[in-house]
Amino acid sequence: MGVGLELDKLELDKCVHCGFCLEVCPTYVITRSEVHSPRGRILAVRLGVKSEGLETCVFCRRCEAACPSGVEYGKAISSYRRADATKKLAHRILENPGLLYASLKVYSRSSSPIALRIKEFVKSYQPPLQYKDENAELLLFPGCLNSVVYRSTVEKATNYLRRFYKVEVYNGCCGLPHYAEGEKERALKIAEKLREAFKGKVVVSLSSNCTAHMREMGLDVFDFAEFVVKKNLPLPQREITVTVHDPCHASLVGLNKYTREMLKRMGAKIVEMEDPSFECGAGGTYFIFNPELSRRIAEEKGRKVKATGVENIISTNQACSLALSLHGKVFHVADLL
Ligand code: SF4
Ligand code: SF4
Repeated sequence: MGVGLELDKLELDKCVHCGFCLEVCPTYVITRSEVHSPRGRILAVRLGVKSEGLETCVFCRRCEAACPSGVEYGKAISSYRRADATKKLAHRILENPGLLYASLKVYSRSSSPIALRIKEFVKSYQPPLQYKDENAELLLFPGCLNSVVYRSTVEKATNYLRRFYKVEVYNGCCGLPHYAEGEKERALKIAEKLREAFKGKVVVSLSSNCTAHMREMGLDVFDFAEFVVKKNLPLPQREITVTVHDPCHASLVGLNKYTREMLKRMGAKIVEMEDPSFECGAGGTYFIFNPELSRRIAEEKGRKVKATGVENIISTNQACSLALSLHGKVFHVADLL
């Protein structure tokens, strides 16, 4: 992980401005503006000039996978972003799913712009599931949004895993929103807290981008489908045709192949969409703070989903699921159990 602004600037100095990253960048594809491209953002940091491009980055890090010079954009750029008070408040709420539930209740009665935007995405919510078997050996990490917005998925996964393991549900945040928005120190503290909580346990995450982030922070975590596949757990057969969205960070660490493998083992038919890891438009809390660009990215994603002619969308990441529900019926693989 990045240590100090100077080192992070050196990382960005590896950029040779070739532009190979432009066409994979959702904000560039939507705007065709250099300011909203990885290359433009990197240049702004190197020149030390202010740029609105730093605020409009979705932090999907697709540019990293495309970069022939190996620029670790995410690690470096998170040191130059600054979360304002509103974003910091949102991050504190996400750290505690119980507080997230209470906050959503408050937002449901508000007509502030932020509340209205949240209500466009979040249609229903429940208190987080509290569950613990005696001598639990497996921690199920739902992810902050899943705990509250997709509780039925958490229940499905818990009931399934309980057939084979003693389970405890751990409701919390992985720290990715903090890291992405420039609260790097806070993200490191969250990782330390999780390291303590995870000690001696097998940890299974229900949110693929959280899984990817926690792994990058050095934590030993399985993604749900990865765990099912690697442990060869028995699966039911399902006659369903789906298209699969690849959450961006999960793509970077190679998790999405397990989602497809689990679906194949269940007998599901997969119709691939074009460029499945193209941003969904949610981007963690991006949809709240950059509503216009988020809408345009979601429209582009919607075109890719619609072209498949398939109504059922598989998403193993919570925020993506919210954005994708604009285009069809969204399922986590655990929903099919
Ligand atoms: S970040 Fe990488 S791909 Fe993008 S312009 Fe720089 S060197 Fe080229
Ligand atoms: S992280 Fe995503 S949105 Fe940001 S510059 Fe890279 S590709 Fe573009």
